[in-house]
Amino acid sequence: MSFLPLTSIALDPSALRGDFPILSRSVDGRRLVYLDSAATSQKPRSVIDAEVAFLTNENAAAHRGAHTLAAEATELFEDARATVAAFVGAEPEQLVWTSGATAGLNLVAYAIGNATLGRGAPASARFALAPGDEIVVTEIEHHANLVPWQELAARTGATLRHIPVHDDGRLDLDAAASVIGERTRVVAFTHVSNVLGIVNPVADLVALARSVGALTVLDACQSAPHLPLDLPILGVDLAVFSGHKMLGPYGIGGLYGRTDVLEALPPFLTGGSMITRVTLDRSEYLPPPQRFEAGTQPVSQAIALAAAVRYLDGVGMEAVHAHERALGERLIDGLREIEGVRLLGDPSTASGQAVERVGLAAFDLDGVHAHDVGQFLDSRGIAVRVGHHCAAPLHARFGLTASVRASTALYNTIDEVDVFLDALSQVRPFFGVSA
Ligand code: PLP
Repeated sequence: MSFLPLTSIALDPSALRGDFPILSRSVDGRRLVYLDSAATSQKPRSVIDAEVAFLTNENAAAHRGAHTLAAEATELFEDARATVAAFVGAEPEQLVWTSGATAGLNLVAYAIGNATLGRGAPASARFALAPGDEIVVTEIEHHANLVPWQELAARTGATLRHIPVHDDGRLDLDAAASVIGERTRVVAFTHVSNVLGIVNPVADLVALARSVGALTVLDACQSAPHLPLDLPILGVDLAVFSGHKMLGPYGIGGLYGRTDVLEALPPFLTGGSMITRVTLDRSEYLPPPQRFEAGTQPVSQAIALAAAVRYLDGVGMEAVHAHERALGERLIDGLREIEGVRLLGDPSTASGQAVERVGLAAFDLDGVHAHDVGQFLDSRGIAVRVGHHCAAPLHARFGLTASVRASTALYNTIDEVDVFLDALSQVRPFFGVSA
């Protein structure tokens, strides 16, 4: 096994593990090894405390009411927006709160559908789809960035096309150049695959989309917790991320949008808090981001998400990325050495191409069902994800219906990866599977 020198790790996870109360618990008498952060991350005490403190001291609805608590809640809510927006390189008015990435992607798809129906300001017409127009996704998308586009295509008569993936897990950019064409209106793709862990070439895809005037929508769920992220520099028009995957609470996420795009996009959900004037017949809407935030907002969650990004900023995203890259290399080197393991997406072996990755790998273990692998590991206190990880088409592409996924975060140690690898090497002998 070729291990990275530990000197390349700038972050000391053992120094920050004490900030995450859950990491000190045990599972069936064994110490918890949590390798399921791609599903949801654990939360530091400061995030838990931030939510509790708001609910204890200032709880009131934001942007509603003239009393002291309402004013304090509004200020904290908008401060949280500024903090989280800055974390992704954006201005506060470029960040719309959503309940998560799935909600953000549905918001965009339904808003485009509304533009197609002729709703919204005259500027909204630029998003309208006509039969024969094309929406392009990739073969590796999470269902959250696939199903809403299938529905939009069905509602508008647009055609859904996809960019295929190479055997080694890299997107096929030659194919992308022919799939993205004159009829392409939307290109929606993930920054980092939740199955392959590979960082996709955003700049190349944005350039292709721009060359035909298509809107770009980035799923940044699996990059925001792991890499320094500057969405305006990446040049995408819209992007989503999920709070609970980046040390924050459930029920909160962000939709970033370029100012001109958000200003021209019609709303999806409508109701209170997003209007300037309402009569019985018609309504006028606030500018973004409030235009997209109908109803009472998730104030305590936004405040706790701001605490999460302050925590990440305090550690430093460069250091987080370097640490998780080292974890990922140890993980993948170790997996390659275990008899019967087939990695989903392994660029260095298949093509000799260097790619950027996060600390995540999914694999099939010959002769043992993924669910059995998961149960065996659980009996050792090791938490991994098994199944198709909401990426069934990608699994079908690799001839599978399920895989095992180990995913790391800033609080994982090299030692935990080794505990996992050691346990995994015992699975086939345990089930009596011979080489
Ligand atoms: N996109 C990716 C790449 C994901 O990994 C996930 C969650 O697993 C989602 C979207 C959906 O996020 P959420 O369920 O938080 O809305």
